[in-house]
Amino acid sequence: MASAEVSNKVFQIAVLGGDGIGPEVTEVTVELLKQVQQKLTGVTLEFEEHSVGVGEYLKNGVALPETTFEACGRCDAVLLGAMGIPSVRYPDGTEIAPQLDLRERLQLYGGVRPIHLFHAADTPLKNYDSGDIDFVLVRESTEGLFSGRGSTFSAEDQAATNVMRISRAGTERVCRMAFELAQKRDGKKHVTLIDKANVLSAMVLMREVFDEVAKEFPDCTSDHCYVDAAALFMVRDPQRFDVMVTENMFGDILSDLAAGLVGGMGMAPSGDIGATAAVFQPSHGSAPDIAGRGIANPVATILSAAMMLDWFDHPETVRASKLLTAAVSSVLANPENRTPDMGGSMTTTQMAAAIAAAI
Ligand code: NAD
Repeated sequence: MASAEVSNKVFQIAVLGGDGIGPEVTEVTVELLKQVQQKLTGVTLEFEEHSVGVGEYLKNGVALPETTFEACGRCDAVLLGAMGIPSVRYPDGTEIAPQLDLRERLQLYGGVRPIHLFHAADTPLKNYDSGDIDFVLVRESTEGLFSGRGSTFSAEDQAATNVMRISRAGTERVCRMAFELAQKRDGKKHVTLIDKANVLSAMVLMREVFDEVAKEFPDCTSDHCYVDAAALFMVRDPQRFDVMVTENMFGDILSDLAAGLVGGMGMAPSGDIGATAAVFQPSHGSAPDIAGRGIANPVATILSAAMMLDWFDHPETVRASKLLTAAVSSVLANPENRTPDMGGSMTTTQMAAAIAAAI
């Protein structure tokens, strides 16, 4: 008699704690994921830790060792903490940034950054309740102004130049990602291109390509907004946005502004997504000012892990993603459950334990 085979899907996750508070927030998140896993059927999450960042750079002169890069390409996804500290720099004066190297080398072209208000007390804006601020910023992550980050200083001119590169192919794929996200979201199915097409010819190309892609999605509406006006509208009228898509540097800046609308950097998750690989990480940096004190807010990393489970697109991991997000939501419904960055007194582990208890 043939025995009934029980299939088991294994998801391999590379964990890159990195620098500053990075290891603190990834450690509690991995523990939570291990707990969530116990509720899953036919799915195993396996974790492998890899070294990256300042420690590697100071020891070996390379911030992203090849063994770590190979693991990131081989695993199903990467869970990353944060990289870099301001005092450690390359000879040209810029900081090490292996997270940017990963985005470029794995072609993780879409930085997906959901912004959600969990409690009225968390926003500096007046009269916004839980769920009233809810949009996604998609940051193009392989070109734009960051593509010129290796440009050199000219001693002759006494000038340094960084070029903003916008390509048709790069814009097409990130705009498609934004429209597909709008289709999937329970929102207004509206995509806004944030550009500077009144001044920069690269942005004129971006707008042309965005408008072409928009025609492929007749069930979605779209518009454009100059980046300076977008900064104003995000504060004055955040509900006008559903999905925003923009170039690399604009997205970098606007994501911090967006995080500020819902409680700060500790509340802003992200996924850097490509065609075959993805890195999930909080939008924040290594926060050297609070590193080692056990008070970092782990919510952004935990919500990034929930995005990863959803991205795996397996019925059980999608269910786990919802479980994790609902647990975060129920803990944050009580405004006393906050870490010091949001005016509370919980430690990193206490916040993670509260979320674990709510699962
Ligand atoms: P940051 O995001 O590290 O910190 C900005 C402010 O937010 C600080 O006051 C910090 O204490 C606070 N903060 C950030 N995350 C928090 C959390 N989880 N809980 C509580 N408070 C939190 O930005 P920065 O100070 O500009 O950069 C610090 C370092 O991180 C720099 O070396 C920078 O290059 C690097 N960085 C790395 C990444 C990344 O790895 N993806 C992103 C941004 C900055």
